[in-house]
Amino acid sequence: MINKTLCSAMLVVGLLASCAKSPTGRNQILLYGDEQMAEMGLQSFSAIKQEEKISKDPKLNAYVSCVADQIIKVLPDEWKSDWEVVVFDSEQVNAFALPGRKIGVYTAILNVAENQDQLAAIMGHEVGHVIAHHGAERVSQNSLAQAALQIGQVATQGSEYQAATMAVMGLGAQYGVLLPYSRTHESEADVIGLKYLMEAGFKPEASMQLWRNMNKLGGDRPMEILSTHPAPETRIENLANHIEKYKQEGVKALYQRPNCSR
Ligand SMILES: [Zn+2]
Repeated sequence: MINKTLCSAMLVVGLLASCAKSPTGRNQILLYGDEQMAEMGLQSFSAIKQEEKISKDPKLNAYVSCVADQIIKVLPDEWKSDWEVVVFDSEQVNAFALPGRKIGVYTAILNVAENQDQLAAIMGHEVGHVIAHHGAERVSQNSLAQAALQIGQVATQGSEYQAATMAVMGLGAQYGVLLPYSRTHESEADVIGLKYLMEAGFKPEASMQLWRNMNKLGGDRPMEILSTHPAPETRIENLANHIEKYKQEGVKALYQRPNCSR
């Protein structure tokens, strides 16, 4: 509701904003379009490619691509092409998807996601963030905070507080697409991903096992997928509820059960 009011106010003052709805019907303020976000995503992806070792293991790459292809197949039409999937040889338990249609999977996460269904749950979740424009929403919130900060700057000018806040905000803008998501975004990505999982013919219950495995890990943060860690029970319960809800709504596999193996 606050979003909606703020959004109307921004339109009135002529700010170049777009008031959108997420796939689950949540109101969003987006100051950045897909093209701008794609550019940020591509930059981040190039940087990660420079920093991390890219896996050349043909079997692993085939496995990860196989799962990604099944998920991509069930995305809304405008999202069905041009994805790049890269496997990073790393002990970091991590995976991400970025605007600009880039997916990164770190080899260590394949020890946590025990099978194709659990890996699909990860991919569905990550791609869910992108399709729901969570990056754009987050960067927009950051920019709005920054604008508010500039308006309030006179009041705090010269103070240490101002310098510290500006530093945090500046950093936020720079790494906007890689910062942790909010709990709202995490839950929404879970629910969106779950639907893709079901439509692609994977077992939706695997998503619950995945989070059980994840929660056994503890430590080792930051990691996109656990960064804001909604309480594990809440997360698993939310998934269970939505599996039931989707089944009742008639969501089902649009394709044969995938057979991706490592
Ligand atoms: Zn996430």
